Amino acid sequence: MSKPKVAFFDFTSCEGCQLNKLNLENDLLSVLELVDIVEFREAMDDKADTYDVAFIEGSISTPTCIERIHDIRNRSKILVALGACAVQGGVNAMKNGHPAEWVKETVYGENKYLFPSIPVQPISSVVKVDYEVRGCPMSTPEFLHIFKSIVLGRKPKIKNNAVCVECKLKENECVLNKGMFCLGPVSRAGCDAICPSNGQYCTGCRGTISDLNEKGAVQMLKQYGFSEKEAYKRLKMYNTLLINNKN
Ligand code: SF4
Ligand code: SF4
Ligand code: SF4
Repeated sequence: MSKPKVAFFDFTSCEGCQLNKLNLENDLLSVLELVDIVEFREAMDDKADTYDVAFIEGSISTPTCIERIHDIRNRSKILVALGACAVQGGVNAMKNGHPAEWVKETVYGENKYLFPSIPVQPISSVVKVDYEVRGCPMSTPEFLHIFKSIVLGRKPKIKNNAVCVECKLKENECVLNKGMFCLGPVSRAGCDAICPSNGQYCTGCRGTISDLNEKGAVQMLKQYGFSEKEAYKRLKMYNTLLINNKN
């Protein structure tokens, strides 16, 4: 029986998610024995016509991105978005909050006409996405879980509760009580609350829970002494496209 054909593609991104994957070493090798990697620009030159699974890193930000993602989708049985840029627009989407011409001039100067650019969108805004691996960079345990589940024909278990749940289960002291900002109450679990477990605050890189109460989140942060402006600024860092407030 032939092995599933797997490909990795990068769109607008820092390529940190793909590099993160190369660091999986032994864990990744055990999965790679079960598949054929047919495209992976970071590690090989080969190309293929069709894919059983296509992993996509990065956001849609140019007209070419739209053509390319449709082409990949048409040639793929299963498509998986990798990382915050691909799943919810991530830090790339912060540009959507500024005038398009100003952004182009700031980045490209007088060469701005050479680089067609459109508002940033996550992959799911353009084509059907079957699974999402969240985080910036993507969570490697979640990537392995989803990858293995697909290869074994099982349905992956995806969490939709808040990071706070994982944090409380680990009996961490809440960093809000130490005067730090934390988006754990509204951020999607699945990272095992890695940041507050190491004395840091959650910046919301895994996107928000699906039933986000935006005003409630801002109200809660105000109770801990943060201004409304500060709360929205932090909420938008990875989640510009999920937040209704446009200021
Ligand atoms: S999600 Fe983060 S690490 Fe991954 S490509 Fe985007 S910016 Fe880079
Ligand atoms: S530290 Fe953050 S994630 Fe942990 S309980 Fe407090 S608010 Fe929630
Ligand atoms: S704790 Fe927050 S910032 Fe840290 S990995 Fe999890 S979702 Fe991302």
